[in-house]
Amino acid sequence: MQREYEQLRRRFPRFCGCDTCRGDVLVYALNRLSPHYVSTHQGEVLTELSLTSDQERAKLDVVLLEGLSKVGLAPRCGAKPVQVV
Ligand SMILES: [Zn+2]
Repeated sequence: MQREYEQLRRRFPRFCGCDTCRGDVLVYALNRLSPHYVSTHQGEVLTELSLTSDQERAKLDVVLLEGLSKVGLAPRCGAKPVQVV
């Protein structure tokens, strides 16, 4: 999942991409994919979430993209908001 994020991020250089924004995007995506995991073991799930099919990968790309867009428009870290996507 983090690898997917890095790949997407390279396509959108205007996105801040600091640790805070990165975490927000990953949590956003994870919330969309598996809401019940996030509230319990955030860090562990982020690395354990496995992509077992092309369909799941495609879905992950979509939610990561949404996350990049949302976080880019309102970064919590104080970076300038940008239209990322
Ligand atoms: Zn940031």
